[in-house]
Order: sequence, then structure tokens, then C-alpha cells
Amino acid sequence: MGRGYTVTTARRALNPTGGFLRGFTFTLNPYIGCAFGAAGGCPFCYVRTLPVAQAAAGPWGSWVVAKVNLPEVLERELRALAGNGRLRTATIFMSSATDPYQGCERTLRLSRRALELFARFPPRRVLLQTRSPLIERDLDLLKAMGEHVRVSLTIETDDESVRRALTPTSPAIARRFATIARLRQAGVPSQIAVAPMLPHDPERFARLLAAATDRVIVDTYFDGDGAHGRRSRALGMAELYGRLGYGDWFAPGMETRLLAALRTRMGAERVLFSAAGFAAV
Ligand code: SF4
Repeated sequence: MGRGYTVTTARRALNPTGGFLRGFTFTLNPYIGCAFGAAGGCPFCYVRTLPVAQAAAGPWGSWVVAKVNLPEVLERELRALAGNGRLRTATIFMSSATDPYQGCERTLRLSRRALELFARFPPRRVLLQTRSPLIERDLDLLKAMGEHVRVSLTIETDDESVRRALTPTSPAIARRFATIARLRQAGVPSQIAVAPMLPHDPERFARLLAAATDRVIVDTYFDGDGAHGRRSRALGMAELYGRLGYGDWFAPGMETRLLAALRTRMGAERVLFSAAGFAAV
């Protein structure tokens, strides 16, 4: 790819949702593919099994295709939604099949330009799902969007050795906690998504999460992969956990201790679970 991405033009920016994200009106994916999936990163990412993962040649994570006309298409769609009165009830999940703040966003700024449009045409709520501190670059727009946005920052574990083993291309855990602190300090509605929950120390992780945010969503392979864990099994997660010495963790119900520790510290209404938790925008 040379510069790290290729480009395409999109017919649509906002896509009607279904399945896991049925609580949202639309999804928005500025990119196809995700560089966080490179070099064995996010081995649990089931997007690699979807038709969208065939958009370019090579394994998931090795390519990214940028929808370069996204701002124009999105503006047209937001104007139409504003015109027919549907914008104020629209909820948008950004992004469902990519990370909107992966490396190439630094120069391409497609996610930033989408936020500029949302600041002008505010839907009811945009849920910005990312694992990237690059989102701090757009604090000005996030603040301007007020209650029309919520940032959902992925932090799947408190254990750097687990992060290095399972998500080696993802930013360090401490760096992501610094991002959530900056968002909170700026007054941007935010939450931490422990999704998918990776091996961790329940008490220590709960303490860190409760100190960092007002809202946590926990999700697991067995509740969040849309197939009671079968998709995650098909991706080889059980074998991978076994090889890494985390075998006991690949089982339903392992979230119980973390949820209990979080609810004790934060109150049950601030600790949400799986699809219903994400949809509670
Ligand atoms: S950041 Fe999200 S979309 Fe990207 S590879 Fe990881 S799990 Fe998949």
C-alpha cells in the first residue's frame, strides 16, 4: 500500500443497523479494514469473517480502504434526515467494522470531518467507539457536540502482559486511561468499554475503572459475538487462550467477579452489560 491505505468512494455514509447494534438507527464506518488487526492484533475481531473483510487482498489488518468522499455523502444524508425530521431521533454507532481513529485518520481526517458535520447537524446521539488516543485531537468538536456524542473507549484488561499478548498493536493501557481522563476533564460524555473482556484482576481492574469513568460497559465472547461464543471459537480463541495460559478464561460467566466489583464501587446503573448496555445511549 505504500502510504498505508487505498481509497474508494462510498454510495452511502449512514447504514441502517441490525443484529448486535439494532438499538442504533445507523452505523458509520469511514474506513474499510482496520490496522489494529495487523500483526496478530485483535485476534477476536469477528469483522475479519464478514464479507467486508474481502474488500481488498491480504489478511485482515494488512490493508485499509478510506472512503474519501464520506464527508460529501454524509452531509447530503444529514441534510435529508434534518429535512424529514428523523435526525433528532437518529442514533449512530461509529464505527462497527473499523476503528475511526486508527493511524491513517491522523492525515485523512475523515472522522474529524464527520464530527464537523455532526456539530452542524446534530443527531440524537453519536456513539464513538475507539481504542485510540488520537480521538483527543478532536476534543474541540466533541465539546461542541455536547450531549449529542458519547465516546466509548475500549480498555479490555488492566494487565499489560495480556494486552501485549492479545492486542499488541493497541495503545498501552495507561495511555488509554490518560485519554479517558482528558475526555472527562473536558466534560465530554464518555464510557469505558471492556469489550471483549480479556483476562484481568477483577478487584484491581474495577478500582481503576471506577476511578476513571462514570460508566462502564462489559461484554464477553459468549454474550457479544452474536453467536453465544461460536464465532469466537471459530476464530480459534479457545486454542489461543490455551496456548497463552489463559485457558480458564475462555468460559461463560467469567465476567461475574468484575461486574460485582464494579457495581459495588459504581452502583448498578453505571455498570452495563453487552448489547443492551451499548444501546443505552
Ligand atoms: S480495533 Fe476493532 S475493528 Fe479494529 S481490528 Fe480491533 S476489534 Fe477489529
